[in-house]
Amino acid sequence: MLVAQAGSLAAYWDRLEFRLGFMPQIIGDQVFLHGLDLQKSIEPLVRGFAGVHKTNRVIVIDPGHGGADPGARSAADGRWEKEFTLDWARRLAPLLEQRGWRVFLTRTNDRDVALSDRVALSEARAADLFLSLHFNTSGGAREQAGLETYCLTPTGMRSSLTRGYEDDPAEILPNNAFDAENFQWAVRLHAALLKVDGIRDRGVRRARFLGVLRAQKRPAVLIEGGFLSNPGEARRIADPAFREKLAEAVAEPLK
Ligand SMILES: [Zn+2]
Repeated sequence: MLVAQAGSLAAYWDRLEFRLGFMPQIIGDQVFLHGLDLQKSIEPLVRGFAGVHKTNRVIVIDPGHGGADPGARSAADGRWEKEFTLDWARRLAPLLEQRGWRVFLTRTNDRDVALSDRVALSEARAADLFLSLHFNTSGGAREQAGLETYCLTPTGMRSSLTRGYEDDPAEILPNNAFDAENFQWAVRLHAALLKVDGIRDRGVRRARFLGVLRAQKRPAVLIEGGFLSNPGEARRIADPAFREKLAEAVAEPLK
């Protein structure tokens, strides 16, 4: 079931939230969606999910941040995002190996890895899928909570999130060759994670500035698995059993 509303960028596919590129409009008595939203979001959802069907499937998992770049700080215990993303990735890797994936991590310890090196690793390993793991921060609003899943903004659309970076809709990036698959993977992963108890839905979103996604020559998704700036969510993220659930949820659609 698709729910879209005139004057709102939030739309719902089987109750899962995603962001349109353009607000639906009422023209005459009818609701109209923009052609790019039909082509880049609705059509890939209706067509159904292809997945990766081949032997020797390769995935690169990217634990966000590391070394001198700690990421967000936990409101619960003062620990850093880089520690939680690495633990999430290490829990996820064996689950994917059991499912027949060859798994490579962009880092396996607390060290600096340039965004370009994270992209270069997936190129060197000829990855079929790239998955970057992060936790979020609101920059002030402690009540902000929930799951956000990102893929690259298709050319012609504005991004759901820009964080002050330039957002040029005319830009054509290497990863735009995978717009449909990016969105299919993002929706699949997002839906699986929403099944974890108590996770709030902040939607599948699109951004153009994320350095680990832009140049990928394969489907690529970035997950923000909750807000470390929210005390309640930070307490959950601090619990290893919760991070194991996050790993299991990500592995589920990666059959
Ligand atoms: Zn991060």
